[in-house]
Amino acid sequence: MSDLVFKTAAELSQLLQAGEITSVELTTACLDRIQAFDEKVHAFLHIDREGALATAQEVDEARQRGDDLHPLAGVPIAIKDNMVTRGMPTTCASKILAGWIPPYDATVVRRIIQAKLPIIGKTNMDEFAMGSSTEHSAFGVSRNPWDLERIPGGSGGGSAAAVAGFMVPLALGSDTGGSIRQPGAVTGTVGVKPTYGAVSRYGLIAMASSLDQIGPVTRTVEDAALLQELIGGHDPLDSTSLNEPVPALANSVREGEDLTGIRVGIVKELTGEGYEAGVLSAFQKTVDNIQSRGAEVVEVSCPNFEYALAAYYLIMPAEVSSNLARFDGMRYGLRVEPEEGPVTSERVMAASRGAGFGDEVKRRIILGTHVLSAGYFDAYYGSAQKVRTLVQRDFDEAFQQADVLISPTSPTTAFKFGEKVDDVMAMYLNDIATIPANLAGVPAMSVPAGLSEGLPVGFQVIAPARGDAVMYRVGRAVELTTDVADQCPARDWKEEA
Ligand code: GLN
Repeated sequence: MSDLVFKTAAELSQLLQAGEITSVELTTACLDRIQAFDEKVHAFLHIDREGALATAQEVDEARQRGDDLHPLAGVPIAIKDNMVTRGMPTTCASKILAGWIPPYDATVVRRIIQAKLPIIGKTNMDEFAMGSSTEHSAFGVSRNPWDLERIPGGSGGGSAAAVAGFMVPLALGSDTGGSIRQPGAVTGTVGVKPTYGAVSRYGLIAMASSLDQIGPVTRTVEDAALLQELIGGHDPLDSTSLNEPVPALANSVREGEDLTGIRVGIVKELTGEGYEAGVLSAFQKTVDNIQSRGAEVVEVSCPNFEYALAAYYLIMPAEVSSNLARFDGMRYGLRVEPEEGPVTSERVMAASRGAGFGDEVKRRIILGTHVLSAGYFDAYYGSAQKVRTLVQRDFDEAFQQADVLISPTSPTTAFKFGEKVDDVMAMYLNDIATIPANLAGVPAMSVPAGLSEGLPVGFQVIAPARGDAVMYRVGRAVELTTDVADQCPARDWKEEA
């Protein structure tokens, strides 16, 4: 099997531009690896072999002709199955969208197509991006390439497993409360949630619109920067899109060797109690390491972060209950008629939603409808919005004292299937460190920072809004402390004879 699958997108881009490899060769290598190993990992819900190879062929011909191509042209990518792709199934890992073929492309997908990256397929996730393990996918779990008995994180476990398992060098995820970063942490990959508005959400099937953000899933910080530069930038189709140029992220990555003059703040509330000892020791080691690269390390306190998780689980379901109202059995996907009695539109909606949504989605719709109801609005939704403001103020104050904030990404390493799926609170606590960034709209990334008992630990870097460039710089310094991807057992997987 081709060794090309182990290379980074930056390396592949060089090889393609130098004419040393073709995109068809590279895309075939990815597809072959998926064919050999995705039966056990189940990172993908849909694979578009023909479409990917057709794009690859087109890139190779364009290069032959000497056309001006995007640096990432010809480098394969996978897309989380909550971003719409024209002519390619998009399910959100839900039965309610099974068989639906979108009539248009998300803006990020359109940019990828214009830059001619072969789209390999759509990746598995928790249904409608609700979860931290992919155990809520209606189509079966994805497995962690580090240990197939363990979760790859969620909701974007499929994208993370595809990248960690060397099936694709690049993938896209979406992060509402941690769904790019926590899978990154537990699979030893890089996961970035850009500043809210830095990447268009047009065509991302909404979970909680004020929190959702699309971002890169890669094996290196540089690859993530290259991908964010490609997908980022203003989009008139998304009214929350920032109308400003994409910062020079890849250049900033190159400055990561030296952190002189950078103040790094350890968030007191996001370390300590509730975090595994192995996670904390890998975190501390990395802190020492970036300090030796010149960073000034301080401790900051964000007292309201204690309430962030509770506020998230009121605001997010409120938005979920409203966003998911469109799945009514009339417009998209599954339509179920009531078993008996009259076939009225209301009864078709009830039957379709009853059959189409899984338990976790139903739980959140019910919770969201409740917190928005007239009698409870102020007590729940109103209070949660106040907490959201307090969390934003904590960030403002902390960023007076530090250029970036750091913490472990996730309190634990990858856990086993079944360990938390029936304990709702235990599952929700996975995102204790990632949620504050979504509430404030600030950028945050997870970078691998060593292993604990053979499993990857994620290190989170959070920057002020629009500070994505400095986040990438510090992320690069973190990355320089370890070589986690090189140690993934998926490197040594052998094809069964
Ligand atoms: N795990 C969190 C949740 O279940 C985050 C989800 C996400 O970011 N999409 O809500």
